Amino acid sequence: MTWTLLRGGWLHDPTNGIDGEVRDLAIQGGRIVPLPAEPPAEVIDASGCIVMAGGIDLHSHIGGGKVNLARMLLPEDHRDRMTGGANPCTPGDNPLELISCGHATPGTLATGYRYVQMGYTAAFEPAMLAANARQAHMEMGDTPILDHGAYVLLGNDEYFLQRLAEGAPPEEIRDLIGWTLHASKAMGIKVVNPAGISAFKYHQRRLDVDESHVHWGVTPRQVVQALARGLTDLGVPHPLHIHGSNLGVAGNIASTLATIDALEGLPAHLTHVQFHAYGREGPKKFSSAALQLVEAVNARPQLSIDVGQILFGQTVTASGDTMRQHANAGLASPRKWIGADIECEAGCGVVPFRYQEKSYVNALQWAIGLEIFLSVRNPWQVVLTTDHPNGAPFTSYPHLIRLLMDRPFREEQLARLHPDVAANSALKDLKRELTLQEIAVMTRAAPAKLLGLSDRGHLGPGAAADIAVYRDDPIDRERMFTTPEWVFKDGRVVARAGRITATPVGGTHFVTPRFDDARDTGFAAALRERMARNGSLHPQHLEIGHDELCACCRGGRLLPTECFEGAST
Ligand SMILES: [Zn+2]
Ligand SMILES: [Zn+2]
Repeated sequence: MTWTLLRGGWLHDPTNGIDGEVRDLAIQGGRIVPLPAEPPAEVIDASGCIVMAGGIDLHSHIGGGKVNLARMLLPEDHRDRMTGGANPCTPGDNPLELISCGHATPGTLATGYRYVQMGYTAAFEPAMLAANARQAHMEMGDTPILDHGAYVLLGNDEYFLQRLAEGAPPEEIRDLIGWTLHASKAMGIKVVNPAGISAFKYHQRRLDVDESHVHWGVTPRQVVQALARGLTDLGVPHPLHIHGSNLGVAGNIASTLATIDALEGLPAHLTHVQFHAYGREGPKKFSSAALQLVEAVNARPQLSIDVGQILFGQTVTASGDTMRQHANAGLASPRKWIGADIECEAGCGVVPFRYQEKSYVNALQWAIGLEIFLSVRNPWQVVLTTDHPNGAPFTSYPHLIRLLMDRPFREEQLARLHPDVAANSALKDLKRELTLQEIAVMTRAAPAKLLGLSDRGHLGPGAAADIAVYRDDPIDRERMFTTPEWVFKDGRVVARAGRITATPVGGTHFVTPRFDDARDTGFAAALRERMARNGSLHPQHLEIGHDELCACCRGGRLLPTECFEGAST
C-alpha cells in the first residue's frame, strides 16, 4: 500500500511527549503509521513548519434548532458579507466551495470550510435536545469535512425532574442517562442551568444551587449530583458537561463553587467558565473572580474547564438557558431576540450581542477569560473555546492564541480598554506566555482525552491522520494559526495554504453505553406514553438507529466510543 511522507516538521504532540522535535510522519490508509521500509509514493516537505494533530473544538454551537434560529434572526450577519466584508458571500474562484456565508453563525458549509482552513478537523455541538437530535445530526452532517458529535441535554426535562423528585433509585437515573445517550446518539450529557430552565416555566427568575424548584422541589445540587453519578457509573468517558447556575450574574462565583462542591469529588467538565467567574466587588459591583475559580480547578485534577473567551465585536448568543437569556434580552444588539420552549425538554434563547472595548463589563469579561487561561497550572485541564458564537465566532481563535502567547500584544490590547479594567484585574501582572506545546494541549490533545477519543488529538502510530501543518511565525502567531500550509483529514489534503482542496464527508462520534434495557417496563415505557400524549414525535421514533444516523449524516462514518471497562450496569 502506498504511503505519504511528511518530512522534517517540528512535531508538537503532547500525548506522546514530543515537544517541538524534528520528526518524519508516515501516512497510510488514512492513519499515521510507523515509517514503512519501502519508499513513499509522495513526499511533503514540512521543514520550517510546526506539525500538530488536527484541532478539536469541544464546545461550539454548530447544530440544532437554536443555531438555525440565530441565522434567521440575523439575516444581516449574512447580507453584510455580500458587500465585500471579511468573509464575502459571493461565488469565489474555488468550485469546491459552495456558496455559504455568515460571520457569527455561518451556514453549515461555511462552518466546515472555515474550521478546516484554520487546521481544525472536529467540532462538538454542546446543546442537542433528544427530541431534536435528528435535526442536529443532519445539520452537522451537512457541515463538510469536520468530524462531529453532540452532548444531549438532561436535567431540565419534566420526566427526569419528576423521577428525581419521586426519589428514583440511582440505578434508574443511570439507565435513563444511558438510554438517552443511546437513543439520541450523543457523546455526552450537558446540563444547562440545572433545573433552572424548567423553573423558569414555573415563573422562577433565578435558581441558586441550594434553592428548590417551586414545583418539583428538587435543587440544582441534586440534579448535578444525580447526573454526575450516573455518568460515572456508566463509564462514559466525557464527564458531566456543566453550564452552571446564574450564568453572567455578578457574584456568580458562589454558585460555581457550590456546583463544584455538589460534585463531591466526581469528575466533571465546567463549560464557558468565563461567564461563571464573577464577583461583586468594587464600585461597579462587578469584579473578576477568576483566581477563585482557578484555585478550585488547580486543587481538583478530576475537573476540566473550557473558557468561553469573549472577544470584541458583533456576535449572537444562543443558549438553552431560557432563564438567563430572558434576563439578557434587554441588552440585545440589534434589539431583537427569541425565547422558546422545546417539547418541555429544555429551552432556547437567542440574543444578538455586541461586545465593546469601552464597556467596563465587557472589557472585564475579556480580562477574566485571559486570567483563567493564564493561571490554570495544568494545561490538560483547560480547553480553548469562545463558546462559539456566544463569546465570539470560532474564526477568532488565531487572535485568541496570539493573546495567550504574546504578552506585549496582550498588553497593547489591554491598554485600549475601559481604563478601570487594568486596575481591577490581575491580568496586567500575569507574565505567562503560553508555549506552542501548551496551545497544542488546549486545542487538540486535551479535548481528545476529555472525550475519550484515543485515536485523535495526537500523532502516534494508529491515530487518524488528521494533521495541521503551520509555517512557523514567532512574530505573529495569529497569522500562523489563521492559515496552515497543509491540513490533512484522514490522510487526505483538505486545505492547502488556506484553500479548500477536498470536501469529504465528516464522521459522527457517539458513545455506546451499556445500560439495563428496561424499555418495556420502566422509564422507556413511561417516556413513550408521555411522548404519545404530549409530544410531537411519534414514540417509535425516539431512538435513532445506526443506519438512520448514517443517512442523517450524508453517509459519513460512524465513530462509536466505548465506555470505560468495569462500569457497573
Ligand atoms: Zn452553555
Ligand atoms: Zn455553549
